[in-house]
Amino acid sequence: MIYLDNAATTPPFESSLRAAWPWLTGEFGNPSSTHELGLRAKDALESARESVSQSLICRPSEITFTSGATESNNLAIKGIALANPRGRHIVSAKTEHSSVLESIEFLVRHHDFTVTWLDVDSEGRLSIDELRAAVTESTTLVALMWINNESGVIHDMAEIALICNHAGVPLHCDAVQAVGQVDVDLNDYRVTSLAISGHKIGAPKGSGVLFVRSGTPFESVMNGGGQESGIRSGTQNVAWAVAIADALELQRTRAPRAERVGDLGQQTTGFIDAVLERVSRARLVGPRPNSAPTHSAHNDRSPAIASFVFEGLNGETILLELERRGIICSSGSACSAGSTEPSHVLTAMGYDADLARTAVRFSFANEFEGQSKTASTEAFDQDRVVEALIEITTKFGVAD
Ligand code: PMP
Repeated sequence: MIYLDNAATTPPFESSLRAAWPWLTGEFGNPSSTHELGLRAKDALESARESVSQSLICRPSEITFTSGATESNNLAIKGIALANPRGRHIVSAKTEHSSVLESIEFLVRHHDFTVTWLDVDSEGRLSIDELRAAVTESTTLVALMWINNESGVIHDMAEIALICNHAGVPLHCDAVQAVGQVDVDLNDYRVTSLAISGHKIGAPKGSGVLFVRSGTPFESVMNGGGQESGIRSGTQNVAWAVAIADALELQRTRAPRAERVGDLGQQTTGFIDAVLERVSRARLVGPRPNSAPTHSAHNDRSPAIASFVFEGLNGETILLELERRGIICSSGSACSAGSTEPSHVLTAMGYDADLARTAVRFSFANEFEGQSKTASTEAFDQDRVVEALIEITTKFGVAD
């Protein structure tokens, strides 16, 4: 099986699982307990926090461990919006992940917030001018993702943060697809809060991190014993905190980042070129590689995501036929997999519903030594994937 659904979840790193193991077995203390077992668990938790803060270039006290990015997004959006006395207006984009969209909709339904949903262009790009115009005196929060999980577009987080900082508005960033692909350096990128998911970077499912910058007023919606500085009450999952710290460290230290991401980007770009050249019905979703606007200093396509639409085909058929040939990918976001609704991301990019339903996403991951692979996982073989696509699109495509 060639696994190309890493934006849905990555295989876990063996080192992360090994690091977690003692905290799932003999070292089972509650980190809030004051006896020996508890103190050791607390030490492990605080070392993990320290390690995460080194990976993200921030302070340990700014790191909260959560169960994943859905929780981090919920906590941050609701927690910051409810604590900020300035207005009740949120700015976000139509292409955000459902955990962001729904957290905002909750605030609209139950707390009288209003929201400006920013549009994107046909390649998934936001307009910085529209963002600037949308932020007003009464804006409470801006919530924008770093890299889109379907189009792979990279939003210019440095520029977005500048606008928000200048206006004095907190900025929440969903960085799930950014970790490992761009330098998430929180000293450089002045976001207020940031969400990370462990299972997209080699840690187990159910592990996550929320960064909240020191001094940010925060009204937690997870109330209880006050663990994690009151941001996320509940006994901490020490093992998963240790595991996500290890995965982040691995992403940061194993190979020079530029070299690693460069390799991945080259592989993805080569794949995109080959599909566009050889599969006549394929159209790329998102920006062409290296097609960033000339005024922009940054490359705006993720090195890890390549989505296509296939006019005249059925997306589900392509997925099933690829799977029959041992190639695993997805029709877009895993969270909405199985839904017959067209992707809200593609719809926002202007695709009509029928074409949006033909989308297929291939997503890649940085590979490291020590990463466990299931016995059936094979290395990426570009020719095999492209030839499978040619065969499927020829066999199942409706004549033009
Ligand atoms: N945001 C984005 C951009 C994602 O891709 C995902 C996972 N599909 C999430 C948030 C949710 O992460 P988790 O699975 O950890 O809740």
